[in-house]
Amino acid sequence: MAPLQDMAVVVDEWFDGERRHREATTFLIREGRIAEIAPGDRSASLVIPGTPIERGGFLMPGLVDAHVHLFLDGKPTDTATRSAHLKQSVEDLTDAARASARQSMACGITLVRDAGDRYGINNRIRDESRSGAAGLCHVRSGGLGVKRPKRYGAFMARDVTDEAAIRESVAELAKSSDEIKLILTGIIDFDAGAVTDEPQFELADTRLVVETARAHGRTTFAHCSGIKGLRIAAQAGVGSIEHGFFMDRETLAVMRDKQIAWTPTFCPVHFQWAHPEAAGWSPNTIGNLRRILDSHAEHLRLADEMGAPLLLGTDAGSMGVEHGHALFDEIDRYLEAGIALERVIAAASSVPRKHFGHSNALLTRGSPFDAVLLPVSPFGDPQALRKPSRVWKRATVHAAT
Ligand SMILES: [Zn+2]
Repeated sequence: MAPLQDMAVVVDEWFDGERRHREATTFLIREGRIAEIAPGDRSASLVIPGTPIERGGFLMPGLVDAHVHLFLDGKPTDTATRSAHLKQSVEDLTDAARASARQSMACGITLVRDAGDRYGINNRIRDESRSGAAGLCHVRSGGLGVKRPKRYGAFMARDVTDEAAIRESVAELAKSSDEIKLILTGIIDFDAGAVTDEPQFELADTRLVVETARAHGRTTFAHCSGIKGLRIAAQAGVGSIEHGFFMDRETLAVMRDKQIAWTPTFCPVHFQWAHPEAAGWSPNTIGNLRRILDSHAEHLRLADEMGAPLLLGTDAGSMGVEHGHALFDEIDRYLEAGIALERVIAAASSVPRKHFGHSNALLTRGSPFDAVLLPVSPFGDPQALRKPSRVWKRATVHAAT
């Protein structure tokens, strides 16, 4: 890893993770942390001669994608290539995961939460990133999830049958996973326009997963769509609900009260709607997809109004959902839903960091310098987010365009 170089960054405007600051500001970085934030361009008075100075239009925290699968490649959009990808050796899949983590970093994403892979490749990439492997974003790893035998989720979870198996598996997974992933339901049947199968776990067993994880110092995140599963997830007090299609107001109220976070992952469904030819959807199914997306957007807006914590995650690795780039598509979905840009960037930076228990979720004095420099402010043009000029992960430069 390149040495953590002391430097200064002078910007016209910045975002601390929660609030926009419209004044020129000078940041002094020492040993990978923000040592000073001073108003104005103070390069002449505060910066020791010889220290490198970066200049730009806008500084903000490194972005967070709260839901990815690093070992999957979202770029190929035909089923044959996707299943061939999965048949590769674990070493080749690990290389694919490294490439995903590098691509995320180049897009300004300094942290991803991996939502599961059956081999635990995510744990390996997390450890490599921690030990300083070049160009990889930080990884919060869901390791392997838990699911029921013969039900959805084999690519990312192991089977648990009864209470004893839940206790044993969760305790064991908690040793290596940062969070415990629970595959609570199946996926949407787009032709039917609904989640048609029963939840994989009843309330009692869902609670057992949550409580066992908690006893081992871990929070939980639940793959969950359809109102039956959503009610169980909310009642059981999971840490966050992933996907959450077919949400309702009542469940959002429980989520607000228990501060259960929501990662709505529009991207994979939006791809199916925007490119129906990839899966060969009928006009009726395309109509279902649009209706599902519209209702999802409405509930996202409602969640924001009601005060349920919102995380922004893409499900990158799903068909048509590319690591890194997809984050900006997901941002577009939040903006289309009517969420203010300040709150959208918060959902993609400070809110997930707080949810993950980081003590320095904002760009403040003492925080690790995970940050993105943009040529111009996204408050003038949100598309500016897609073109970072510098990305720092603890002051090591990883991308320059
Ligand atoms: Zn996922």
